[in-house]
Amino acid sequence: MTDSAPCIGCGYCCKQSVCGPWGTWTPSGCSELVRDEAQNRYVCAKHNEIVVDPRGAVCPAFGGGCGSLLFNERRRLLATEGRLLY
Ligand code: SF4
Ligand code: SF4
Repeated sequence: MTDSAPCIGCGYCCKQSVCGPWGTWTPSGCSELVRDEAQNRYVCAKHNEIVVDPRGAVCPAFGGGCGSLLFNERRRLLATEGRLLY
């Protein structure tokens, strides 16, 4: 991961699997994934809890950039057209 590939909140990774002990899997992805219309991105409802938990340093590693760049249509559409998919 590099600084040149920031997380832009497309939601892709949290719709593929649940990180650590914080979320519960649902048919639409992690139960803690929240669509933030004002910011046009997805956010994690457990963010503030995770950042003070030592386990959160490696998973999900907020601030570490995006590790899901390849074949990520969600990220591409948000980055290029501002479209945030459901
Ligand atoms: S796939 Fe990348 S850009 Fe999208 S939410 Fe996950 S880390 Fe952020
Ligand atoms: S970062 Fe938050 S929304 Fe994403 S999988 Fe982890 S708990 Fe769920």
